[in-house]
Amino acid sequence: MSTLAQFLARRIALQGPISIATYMAEALGHPQHGYYMRQDPFGRDGDFITAPEISQMFGELIGLWCVEMWRLMDQPTRFQLVELGPGRGSLMADALRAARVRPEFHSAASAHLIESSPALRALQQQRLQHAGVGITWHDDLVQVPAGPMILIANEFFDALPIHQFERRPEGWRERMVSFADDKFTLALNRHVTPQAVLIPEALTRAAPAGAIAEICPAGIAIAAAIADRIAEFGGAALIIDYGHCRHSTANTLQAMRNHAVHEFLADPGGADITAHVDFAALADAARAAGIHGPISQGDFLRRLGIEFRAMQLSQRATVAQARDIDSACKRLIDPSEMGTLFKVLAISHPDMAVPPGFEQPVETA
Ligand code: SAH
Repeated sequence: MSTLAQFLARRIALQGPISIATYMAEALGHPQHGYYMRQDPFGRDGDFITAPEISQMFGELIGLWCVEMWRLMDQPTRFQLVELGPGRGSLMADALRAARVRPEFHSAASAHLIESSPALRALQQQRLQHAGVGITWHDDLVQVPAGPMILIANEFFDALPIHQFERRPEGWRERMVSFADDKFTLALNRHVTPQAVLIPEALTRAAPAGAIAEICPAGIAIAAAIADRIAEFGGAALIIDYGHCRHSTANTLQAMRNHAVHEFLADPGGADITAHVDFAALADAARAAGIHGPISQGDFLRRLGIEFRAMQLSQRATVAQARDIDSACKRLIDPSEMGTLFKVLAISHPDMAVPPGFEQPVETA
């Protein structure tokens, strides 16, 4: 058994079963043995691959989106460019390179990266050393200095710990992680637990017996903090992740290792654990500011011109490279790949014009 598994088993023996949120927080974020603390999990050789690692086009288009938002903010001479969970730093690097089209944007920006993993902070520093803007790292959004802000978060919210509840005849009961016969197992808490108050009314009304409610208090708190900041100082945020537009009663907890699904209780710290993002809950928490979307990633990237950018890159490429560019573009926007599962939500100051990509309402599942 791994050191982290032993630590969790001992904790359960002493204190009783722990919530899935506690298990997830330790499995991902334990200072020594947490999944993100130990290694670089991204890319073809890692456990999963994210959009900015698939293609530079993703970060470039988001960089241009940021420039346009800065223009709509009346071009403040100083603002914070914030990223939550920057991974390898590729998105920020590509975004800042594309944003060089407006030198004034570059000179106004100071970058603030929210990253809990020292290993990933080191990778980000290396990747961004020639990015041309000052960079500061923080543990938490509250540490970012006050002022106008443009924030981006790709595949950050899915890594935040969730609580899971099961609908029983007597009400919602929380699923807990317990330890027996040398393995972690799930058990329902017989008592009502405090996070149950966060379960949306609409779910309670419609949920059949056995339905699952997933609640992410950390995500709700961060979305509210982003909206409060934007309402007070101006700015915009772009949240991209896999998830659903309406509250769902599905069990979406999943673990990934070597690009394959892995049992999430099998090896805490050894695999990535995520849950689909409840965009309705984030939008609800961010009501202090203006909300746009969620729309599908496919619609968003297509409207920002990804197909045109792919064509442009292909013209300067070899035949093999052009094939790669084309398949990366498809992977990002095709409904059978990332195009529909991934959603994009924008939060902006209520006085601002509609952000690029969100102009027309679109129907998403
Ligand atoms: N945005 C990147 C990486 C996504 S993985 C990409 O698209 O490739 C999630 C990232 O969030 C990692 O960098 C991880 O270390 C970081 N992270 C996860 N939970 C965090 C938390 N609570 N606080 C700060 N960073 C966190």
